[in-house]
Amino acid sequence: MDIIVLGAGIIGVTTAWYLRQNGHNVRVVERRPEPGLETSFANAGQVSAHLADPWANPSTLRTVFDWLLHDDTPLVFRPQADIHQWTWLAKFLRECVQSRYHQNLIHLANLGVYSRTALQTLRADIGIDYDGRQNGILLFFTDADRLRAAAGAARKLAAYGIKREVLSAQECLDLEPSLQSVGNSLQGGVYSRGDETGDAFKFTQRLAERARQAGVVFHYGASLQEIKTGKSGVDAVDIVFSDGRKETCRAQHYVLCLGSATAAQARKIGISLDIYPVKGYSVTLPVLPDSLACRMGLTDAGRKIAFSRLGDRVRATGFAEIANFDTSIDTARCQQLQDRAMALFPDALDAAQASHWAGLRPMTPSNLPYIGRSRYPNLLINAGHGTIGWTQSCGSALAISEILENRAPACDFPFLGQARH
Ligand SMILES: Cc1cc2nc3c(=O)[nH]c(=O)nc-3n(C[C@H](O)[C@H](O)[C@H](O)COP(=O)(O)OP(=O)(O)OC[C@H]3O[C@@H](n4cnc5c(N)ncnc54)[C@H](O)[C@@H]3O)c2cc1C
Repeated sequence: MDIIVLGAGIIGVTTAWYLRQNGHNVRVVERRPEPGLETSFANAGQVSAHLADPWANPSTLRTVFDWLLHDDTPLVFRPQADIHQWTWLAKFLRECVQSRYHQNLIHLANLGVYSRTALQTLRADIGIDYDGRQNGILLFFTDADRLRAAAGAARKLAAYGIKREVLSAQECLDLEPSLQSVGNSLQGGVYSRGDETGDAFKFTQRLAERARQAGVVFHYGASLQEIKTGKSGVDAVDIVFSDGRKETCRAQHYVLCLGSATAAQARKIGISLDIYPVKGYSVTLPVLPDSLACRMGLTDAGRKIAFSRLGDRVRATGFAEIANFDTSIDTARCQQLQDRAMALFPDALDAAQASHWAGLRPMTPSNLPYIGRSRYPNLLINAGHGTIGWTQSCGSALAISEILENRAPACDFPFLGQARH
């Protein structure tokens, strides 16, 4: 079949890859000059199947007034004259209820494990290198009460196959000696042994190159302007190229993978998707030779800052601003991330070479992405991966390739077409 994939972030590129593996003729349309230049560019790098909690949870609800009223909390709401922002917020608050949070968490873990396995298979099959490390992710605590609560949750989640090991402070240090900088305040941690880290941008670029070699055609500098629908579904897409040229492209199937831009395009053809951009920041610092920087994926539970070791670099990421599509960099936010990285790994990082970045997570209120067929039989959607699009990329793309062949993906997840609750 002829298929057009719209968007070449990590989701669009993995989608194109798996569809091509099934023998389809695949074209990818991307407005930027290369793949992965938007949200997939400098994320935290954590492939986190078993430590990925939905952001909408009962404890978020308890701090709602903080993030509505203050500007310096990890989560900030900046009100806009935009009905989509307010309806998204109302739905997000509804997902904070314990029963919904719990259900969403299990769905995310199911998709996360399915996806991590797909990534491992892909890595074994094609030997792709992206500064990956397979030594787990550690959530560490400096507050004893928070650790106790996380340990209780870990015990309950074990019943659902979600593997989180509770570690003492010494066990954390044995795993990750660089945490010695935390000193006596280190209380312990929760460790997900099977999770991984890696550079999502390198992965996206290298997989796009492998896909190109395998026959996928990439159109860069090509912006989707309009999806044209008819009686039987999508008839064509209108594309405008960076040199002003316009083209109407036709295929048998189309897959929308536009990240945060997906909702606006879908709305034009009567599909309502609750995807809203939530801005986050990252700082990437080179590691100095022979120094003690982190070896694995870490999350500082108190400050909600994630760290990854990506080859000879350390990346710190954090913050969530529910504002609009603005990707400008707030230097004070980045400085906070950088200061924490320098405090945790003193004398290990080259602050003079730090690079700052901001990106928009394509968030749904529940944290669950939209994957599957839309109301137009030949239009599929793979978007809304929010905080964990790198984690879920291979699984979401593999699922799309299965759904297109009318096979049920081997993953217990509410794919589009099934009730989400
Ligand atoms: C600070 C931060 C930290 C994160 N950390 C992690 C992490 O540790 N682990 C994890 O799993 N995830 C993480 N994420 C989330 C992850 O980065 C995203 O979920 C993922 O990158 C989304 O990929 P995507 O392909 O859907 O979107 P994008 O990468 O944004 O790709 C969408 C593509 O569509 C293109 N496009 C849009 N509109 C058009 C149009 N009209 N025509 C043509 N092309 C168009 C864009 O140019 C873009 O290339 C993080 C995100 C942030 C911001």
